[in-house]
Amino acid sequence: MSEQTMSCPKCGEGMNHQASKLVYPLTEAEAARMTPALDGVIEDVFACPGCGWIRSQRAGDKNDD
Ligand SMILES: [Zn+2]
Repeated sequence: MSEQTMSCPKCGEGMNHQASKLVYPLTEAEAARMTPALDGVIEDVFACPGCGWIRSQRAGDKNDD
């Protein structure tokens, strides 16, 4: 179960994990868990193949909804 899945909030289509990018931490909480070797936090970008909706999410954020 290593693959992340996310449904498009617009059309409900399964979104594709498009990219992971390194971003600078915005909060102390993020800074606390940032990857030391990378000097930042990873943000995952998802794209919907149905409508083109793009969504990004910080790695480590656990949304159980
Ligand atoms: Zn969509």
